[in-house]
Amino acid sequence: MINSPLKKAKRIVLKIGSSLLVNESTGTIKSTWLNALADDVLKYRQQGKEIVIVTSGAGAVGKHALGLPYTKKLTLAQKQAAAAVGQIRLARIYQAVMAERDVKVGQILLTLEDSEDRHRYLNARNTINTLLEMGAVPVINENDTVATAEIKVGDNDRLAARVGQMIGADAVILFSDIKGLYTANPKKDSSAQLIPVVEKLTDEIYAMADGAGSAVGTGGMATKLQAAKLCMEAGCSMAISLGAVLFPLTKLDTTNECTWFLAEKNAISARKAWIGGSIKPKGKLVLDAGAVKALHQGKSLLPAGIKSVEGTFSHGDAVSITDETGKILGKGLTAYSSDEVKMIAGKKTTEIEKILGYHGDEVIHRDNLFAEE
Ligand code: GLU
Repeated sequence: MINSPLKKAKRIVLKIGSSLLVNESTGTIKSTWLNALADDVLKYRQQGKEIVIVTSGAGAVGKHALGLPYTKKLTLAQKQAAAAVGQIRLARIYQAVMAERDVKVGQILLTLEDSEDRHRYLNARNTINTLLEMGAVPVINENDTVATAEIKVGDNDRLAARVGQMIGADAVILFSDIKGLYTANPKKDSSAQLIPVVEKLTDEIYAMADGAGSAVGTGGMATKLQAAKLCMEAGCSMAISLGAVLFPLTKLDTTNECTWFLAEKNAISARKAWIGGSIKPKGKLVLDAGAVKALHQGKSLLPAGIKSVEGTFSHGDAVSITDETGKILGKGLTAYSSDEVKMIAGKKTTEIEKILGYHGDEVIHRDNLFAEE
């Protein structure tokens, strides 16, 4: 058994899934559970830890408040309306339960753009940091009232990971309806074993998550592994832990029964972690073998090595980078729009001026490049 990263963690993000907080059939809050969680938050704050909550449940609460049967499939507009009604209730509930413990909360509703756009990202980071400095507990959700599928993170697992990366958290804990990652689907295979620690996200680990009795709610095991990747690369450890117990943080701390995904040791800069953590890159650049080699040597990406371009993006947007087999090699901020990259792909850097009418350099400068290991 490893030493729990929780012990040393100073800044912790707790992700609370809908099913832990809300009775699905009635839309009411599981208040005994929430009060126990609030006691945990208080207890760990008193030990000098900073706690951030990423909470789901707006949709589930709002649906019921609007008198919509919980089994009813909603249109996008109805879902957004339910989130609007639910979120204000959710905020009030957290505010009340923490006020009973003399702790202030601050609500932050994030959109995907708030994490993908550098200025907005830094702004959100400042606000969360300031709330923590002032001793408040940030309570965060995605702003579901305006987000549609294409412009949404969509699950609070990755949102929590992105928040963890944003604020340099030491640990992100996904409280879930499952104890962690198993070697096989524990609902179908009684020999399935809980994996206590993952140091590297290998193909074998991804295969285990494939269809592995994923948690109910929006994020299954696959999104939890994406969240783990975001955290690990950013130097933050992440746990998947059973949330459906009273005092879930104390339980995790005392039993360490969960799966820990350990932070990578080679810390990269916060800026590179942000680039690598882009949740929805706007496009894709496919590289030839020479450019792949240069990338691994830490060099900038030149137009000559680009075989093809996908998606529509503008200068400054994040794009993913693959080799010709489609293997993802990293992400970067492009210096050109997709139309421009299409024109200069495969060409020498010295030809850029002739083609585009202005002098230009690399497509992605190495400072703007995050390469996977
Ligand atoms: N943001 C959604 C809500 O509050 C939940 C997303 C998720 O559960 O991952 O209803």
